[in-house]
Amino acid sequence: MNKQRLKETPRFDRELCIACTMCVNICPTGALDLEIRNSIKGFRRFPVLANPQKCIGCRACEEECPAGAIFMTERAAA
Ligand code: SF4
Ligand code: SF4
Repeated sequence: MNKQRLKETPRFDRELCIACTMCVNICPTGALDLEIRNSIKGFRRFPVLANPQKCIGCRACEEECPAGAIFMTERAAA
């Protein structure tokens, strides 16, 4: 895993997300969690990067997402 990957964390598109929770379940480090958020589909439990310090940039969540709702972006400066 190179340094560039380590700088990337997931962002979620709530309009594409079907709230299947697969990304939360596949994450090996517990970086993701579910929170109730509003969207055009109403209030649902959506994934959020609840523990960004735990994210190792492995992309498992992005690869698992069946809806293409996860995009890896450069980690925000701490
Ligand atoms: S990139 Fe890997 S460690 Fe980071 S949130 Fe996704 S599955 Fe978890
Ligand atoms: S895997 Fe994709 S569609 Fe499922 S909850 Fe995560 S972001 Fe949403």
